[in-house]
Amino acid sequence: MAIATETQPQQHKDSSEVSGSAAEQRRWTLNDFDIGKPLGRGKFGHVYLAREKTSNHIVALKVLFKSQLQQSQVVHQLRREVEIQSHLRHPHILRLYGYFYDQKRVYLILEYAPKGELYKELQKCKYFSERRAATYVASLARALIYCHGKHVIHRDIKPENLLIGSQGELKIADFGWSVHTFNRRRTMCGTLDYLPPEMVGECRT
Ligand code: ATP
Ligand code: MG
Repeated sequence: MAIATETQPQQHKDSSEVSGSAAEQRRWTLNDFDIGKPLGRGKFGHVYLAREKTSNHIVALKVLFKSQLQQSQVVHQLRREVEIQSHLRHPHILRLYGYFYDQKRVYLILEYAPKGELYKELQKCKYFSERRAATYVASLARALIYCHGKHVIHRDIKPENLLIGSQGELKIADFGWSVHTFNRRRTMCGTLDYLPPEMVGECRT
């Protein structure tokens, strides 16, 4: 098995044993990881701390149940999330290193954000200092300019979807509502609590 760098898992694994064939890129499996403590719970599954066995690289493994994804008709959303997030490379965007699946579940291999959700941090502190808030907003703006330069719209920016890295740096996560488009979008989406006023009058589903 190969790892992109000493410290980062790849989207696919190289297989040195199988060369010169279409099978050169083997998929990850659950056996490649040691699973650690739960990090959180999402709508469709759980997120666990995990360690890739060969490289010892620490990741967050998001485990989603296929049956729930199908029932809620969000399979296309998951495809977008994987397709879009795996192609983004920015210090303030959470990396999606790859994915794999078995009969019942889909697994997303994500960069681990040790300091968790910005939302929880804000609840703890009540409010951020001006300096801290300004740093977060500047990081967020840089990451969004990068996304928009690639014609990617996130469409669900909120404190719950902003995670904090080991150095306290902001990381945009959860690209479940994102799209890659050259056109203005008019879909009503995201989270009602954070609906900007300019959208209220002109949204349609
Ligand atoms: P929802 O749609 O309800 O937001 P979800 O299925 O999108 O859920 P996430 O929001 O991605 O799930 O993850 C659930 C929780 O797990 C997060 O709120 C966060 O606390 C934790 N978590 C997710 N990803 C990471 C990560 N990469 N590093 C650390 N914690 C994480
Ligand atoms: Mg989320």
